[in-house]
Amino acid sequence: MSGIYIHIPFCKQACYYCDFHFSTSLKKKDELVNALAQELKLRKDEFKNSSVETIYFGGGTPSLLTNVELQFIIDSVYKNYKVSANPEITLEANPDDLSKERIIELSKSPINRLSIGIQSFFEADLKLMNRAHNANEAKECLSVATRHFDNISLDLIYGIPGASNAQWLENIETALRFGVPHISSYALTVEPKTALASFIKKGIIDDVDDEQAHEQFHMLKAKLEASGFVHYELSNFGKEGFFSKNNSAYWQGKSYLGIGPSAHSFNGRQRGWNVSNNSKYIKALQQQQLPIEVETLTQTDQYNEYVMTGLRTIWGVSLLKVENEFGIDYKDYLIEQSKIFINQQLLYIDDKHIRVTKKGQFLCDGIASELFKINKA
Ligand code: SF4
Repeated sequence: MSGIYIHIPFCKQACYYCDFHFSTSLKKKDELVNALAQELKLRKDEFKNSSVETIYFGGGTPSLLTNVELQFIIDSVYKNYKVSANPEITLEANPDDLSKERIIELSKSPINRLSIGIQSFFEADLKLMNRAHNANEAKECLSVATRHFDNISLDLIYGIPGASNAQWLENIETALRFGVPHISSYALTVEPKTALASFIKKGIIDDVDDEQAHEQFHMLKAKLEASGFVHYELSNFGKEGFFSKNNSAYWQGKSYLGIGPSAHSFNGRQRGWNVSNNSKYIKALQQQQLPIEVETLTQTDQYNEYVMTGLRTIWGVSLLKVENEFGIDYKDYLIEQSKIFINQQLLYIDDKHIRVTKKGQFLCDGIASELFKINKA
């Protein structure tokens, strides 16, 4: 199974917390779309032995592309790759781009999954983060989208300064009222060099409160699990049959091709990343060159990556897989390093898999790093 991720590096305005790669100028949109098609063509041999099961438009804000542009890119995928019969095709979209007409138009396209960047239903939260949409648009677009798409995910952010637990609960309940089958939720993190980091430093915005974020994470988990959602990855909750196929493939270490500026790729042994600059990306593709840097992962890197992603999911880290793919020494090391966390009831072993307990879930990235091996120089 393989997936193609396509990065659309444009946004209407910069959200204060964001450190993804995007430009707020749409001047190079046409050239960029052509360059994406060119990259898809140049890299077609990378997937010649497998079929594409998922196509994911991420960003940035992919809903800034017109349907004609999206269709052009999808056609380029079909022209150059073997695509399975019913691929999952996801579009990340922002509420301000999802008018009723646009949603209807999208529902007639091959796109069959929407991932909508709601983040909050409260005006104050949206303003604090500098989102381009307002609370009304968030609700309007969901009420139309749920009539035209079965497979919808929405994003919510918790741990927003000034947002009480009661407001957070209202956000979750509002999302549930729309009946969406998938919710992704992330803590607001303060990335260096973002506007949010600078506002917090200047005292214009209160700092994030880790304890409150922790409480809100547990509120989310309790509420969604009680509503029939499976907490299948640290930040992702889905009803049975609606887990993101695209993201599940990443977490299970499957291959994916990252197309577009700043996109990452993985083929099981090597990781690649494209240049994070729209002009350089376009120029390279116009000259038939791939603006990509590739690194070959050591066995230790591959083990570390598997532990990191495995621990975040309900599938956990398979001791059998570690033994088969990395050797008995890695398995023994993993069991030894896990003991302290098992004693603290943060990890448990069940059916030859290591998983985080409910108590360990919020701490799982930190725990994973304690299970890592260090590359020998
Ligand atoms: S819309 Fe998404 S990618 Fe664009 S600035 Fe906001 S968070 Fe970042």
